[in-house]
Amino acid sequence: MAALREAVAGPIATDFASRSALSHDASFVAGAADAVVRPRDAEDVVALVRWARKHRVPLTARGGGTSLDGESVPISGGIVVDFSGSTAIGPVNAAARTVQVGPGVVNHDLHRRLAESGLFFPPNPGSWRSCTIGGNVGTNASGPRSFRYGPTRRWVHDAEVVLGTGEVAHLGPVTAKRSVGPELLDLVVGSEGTLALVTGITLRLAPSPRRRCGVVVPVPESVPAGSLALAMASRVSLPISAIEYVDATVADALRRRPEARLPSDGALLLLELETEGTDVESEALAELDALLRQNGVAESATVAADADRMWTLRGEAGELLGRSTGPSVREDVAVPLDRVDALLARLRNLADSESVELHVYGHIGQGNLHPTFVVDPAGERGRRVRSRTWDAARSLGGTVAAEHGVGSVKRDEVAAELGEAGVRVLRGWKALCDPDGILNPGKLLPPNAPATP
Ligand SMILES: Cc1cc2nc3c(=O)[nH]c(=O)nc-3n(C[C@H](O)[C@H](O)[C@H](O)COP(=O)(O)OP(=O)(O)OC[C@H]3O[C@@H](n4cnc5c(N)ncnc54)[C@H](O)[C@@H]3O)c2cc1C
Repeated sequence: MAALREAVAGPIATDFASRSALSHDASFVAGAADAVVRPRDAEDVVALVRWARKHRVPLTARGGGTSLDGESVPISGGIVVDFSGSTAIGPVNAAARTVQVGPGVVNHDLHRRLAESGLFFPPNPGSWRSCTIGGNVGTNASGPRSFRYGPTRRWVHDAEVVLGTGEVAHLGPVTAKRSVGPELLDLVVGSEGTLALVTGITLRLAPSPRRRCGVVVPVPESVPAGSLALAMASRVSLPISAIEYVDATVADALRRRPEARLPSDGALLLLELETEGTDVESEALAELDALLRQNGVAESATVAADADRMWTLRGEAGELLGRSTGPSVREDVAVPLDRVDALLARLRNLADSESVELHVYGHIGQGNLHPTFVVDPAGERGRRVRSRTWDAARSLGGTVAAEHGVGSVKRDEVAAELGEAGVRVLRGWKALCDPDGILNPGKLLPPNAPATP
């Protein structure tokens, strides 16, 4: 440790409070860090990786620690590499529509900083007030606006990384485009800190719409939420950037917030419209209302005062629910949009057969639901409910990890998702990028995977 202190300029903490604060994330997974290092720059990270290789010490990268499947938990001990202090935001390059950021920049802070530029970074996870861009890259995060704009992967132009070998690499192009083989950048997006530590990121930005309008749509019990979302998504003339769902209980939990001002009872769809003026917005709202009538919704849509606030409120759904229900299995499955109603039906059957309470919310426009079963996630029934939820999604052609990642909880599922050949490629990358297996061991890669292909 003395050699490490000499090599690294940033602070190193070994006291109990610092270690325990960073030994868990937002999941039920527990770990135990031996130390926390807050690197000052890429040079610090290089020195740290070299030291860790020599002493075979695990390194777990961490941003905001809001992961939901143990992605940022040091389950094998070792050092937590805390990037939350790397908060530099460079000047916006308006011509290239890019901005350089440190990995510790909080997603919502970036959103605010970009407000004047006329550009924005589209992925807005529910955790946007506490998750970081480094973490968003680590898990390939999405948010409500990913309905229109896609996940983080689409918005990363370049990344400076330190591989598990201690080498520094720039994985993206400097130019607007490049045609030199596959983009290596895809190695790190979604790799959960298992292949490299990200020390700098150049993000692509989208032009901000002139107006953003949050819209609340009541969903009567007689109307299947998935079919309604599908009808909205299929209406390409509507400038919809987000379609979110909260069932009646989750909506009630949100309604209890004084700032919520959500109308009516029952389940809701929360939408966002992006337009270039009030006339277009009024036309879009009229078209939306007509669509609602055609689909059996008698009540009109209402306009929310502020779309950003609506997304912050919606992002708190899991937490607000958790306060009244206690520990629960909170999943992250996705299916093609035309199978969402079938998924909802299977989830309800599952909950009934296991005699557990079920609440559902999520990014329904992306076919992505977060079914929340009120049962101890670490217990036997919790594990069975989780596994049956994954089976339900898979049997409908879906995925078990739409946006939260794999972490330590879903490693057994990776082979079924990627296939044997896919896992072999992943193992090959791991062997090349992190030959000693020091980067976030026990995450993402299926267990017992041989180190080399
Ligand atoms: C209330 C709540 C709502 C949420 N809503 C959403 C949502 O709408 N959409 C969504 O996608 N997710 C959501 N999440 C999950 C989570 O917020 C996201 O996965 C987010 O991207 C994690 O960011 P973080 O900064 O907290 O990362 P962390 O949890 O700190 O880390 C995430 C992963 O990235 C790796 N990592 C972090 N920094 C680096 C780095 N510099 N270099 C290499 N690897 C790194 C970590 O090792 C880890 O594997 C939600 C979570 C909560 C608690």
